Amino acid sequence: MQTLYWFTRDLRLHDNAALLAASRSDMLLCVYVVNPKWFAPGPFQCKTMGEHRWRFLWQSLMTLERSLRALGQRLHIAYGEPEDVIPELVHDHQIGRVIRSRLPGTREAGQWQAIKDKLPKTICQQFETLSLFTEGSLPMKLAELPDTFSQFRKLVEKADDSRSEQLRIRTLTALPPAPGFPEDNRGDCPAIAEPRHPVGFTGGESAGLERLNQFLFVDHSIDTYIDTRNELDEPEGSSRLSPWLANGSLSAREVAETIARYESQHVKNESTYWLWFELLWREYFYWYANKHGSKLFRRDGVRQKKRSVSFYPHRFKAWCAGSTEYPLVNAAMNQLRETGYISNRSRQIVASCLVNELELDWRYGAAWFEEQLVDYDVASNYGNWQYLAGVGADPKGPRHFNLEKQARQFDPDGEFVRRWQGHSSQPVGLHLVDAADWPV
Ligand SMILES: Cc1cc2nc3c(=O)[nH]c(=O)nc-3n(C[C@H](O)[C@H](O)[C@H](O)COP(=O)(O)OP(=O)(O)OC[C@H]3O[C@@H](n4cnc5c(N)ncnc54)[C@H](O)[C@@H]3O)c2cc1C
Repeated sequence: MQTLYWFTRDLRLHDNAALLAASRSDMLLCVYVVNPKWFAPGPFQCKTMGEHRWRFLWQSLMTLERSLRALGQRLHIAYGEPEDVIPELVHDHQIGRVIRSRLPGTREAGQWQAIKDKLPKTICQQFETLSLFTEGSLPMKLAELPDTFSQFRKLVEKADDSRSEQLRIRTLTALPPAPGFPEDNRGDCPAIAEPRHPVGFTGGESAGLERLNQFLFVDHSIDTYIDTRNELDEPEGSSRLSPWLANGSLSAREVAETIARYESQHVKNESTYWLWFELLWREYFYWYANKHGSKLFRRDGVRQKKRSVSFYPHRFKAWCAGSTEYPLVNAAMNQLRETGYISNRSRQIVASCLVNELELDWRYGAAWFEEQLVDYDVASNYGNWQYLAGVGADPKGPRHFNLEKQARQFDPDGEFVRRWQGHSSQPVGLHLVDAADWPV
């Protein structure tokens, strides 16, 4: 059997159930598709892929290519739409089977369906590689996934030994040969911009595994994670594993297993538990996206809660540009634009500002995050935005952060705001006209 393996958000050789299945073939063609649509503005004025994630992704692909070459394989990088590229390769190389990872997101599901429709005689299989659990090993049916995270967590933790059962799959050390090495058109992909800021992430499986080792076994930062995770801009405050987890250079099960190993060899405390707890949040949103499909992207959310929102272009522009009346928000938004990353606390603060102070449709904020974040993950991003906007998995309704209180608590001496130049020289107010319709 000749197999085409379509790499997507699983850019690794360790713990990769889909690649393991593909490796049981006579011939294997390894493919990654870069979609030109990622680089064009979408309905909310933002692109799917901004410069930070694109650079990180390209680095990840180059690392993967090196690993594949060491096993006598190659990575075929095609610039085109998957619905065209994959069927064409199948025909050109007499492929009998296409394998990829199961992906959340309606676009991703639509693409897979379109490919299957074009290839009625080809076996098309998906495997779960993004999550801790497989659908079958979840302690409930997907249709019965609870409406809130805490109900989900309790069910998972009640299931016997849920943490140690998540066995990883061994790192692949051999792959079948490729049916030739066709020339690809990777040269047509957009250019990679130089990083704008020295603080950055390096893409690739080896860098992801290194960061995991560093946070746990070298710096032991995990020991105090529960106290530091809310810091606004402290590189060791949280694991910063999200970019590698998001594109699958790092497996969530590898992280879970490494936490368990750390606990047995060093310390087991509230902090080590809390890192696992955060992985469970990621897990919850993954299944939430799979369960709710297109409802994840609706203004009224999964809960179908109507909120009175409008679109004020000047407010959205000021939020993106870091020129609102709120220095803390501006600082975080400047950091996001410069580096592609902000802490979880900063994400909550700027999201609350967009929804509550600026009274904008949360989907504009989610779309800007999608473009900017180096760790963008469709399920975590849209799940968290819905949660903050009060239309998703939060029974308490919209979260409204008091921005002054947040600044006093998390940036008491104003260092974060100074570092990221949060005091805008021309802050944009909420209104462009006064009550009598005169320009302000
Ligand atoms: C509005 C908003 C949008 C977000 N968008 C994304 C996104 O696109 N991609 C993304 O990976 N995370 C997203 N998050 C969740 C969270 O902010 C990041 O995962 C976290 O800040 C990444 O930094 P870290 O790796 O140091 O996290 P740590 O605190 O070290 O946590 C470890 C891992 O747990 C997972 N995790 C932690 N918190 C959450 C959470 N609230 N939801 C889901 N998973 C979580 C991540 O995989 C993270 O890498 C968003 C949060 C908010 C409030």
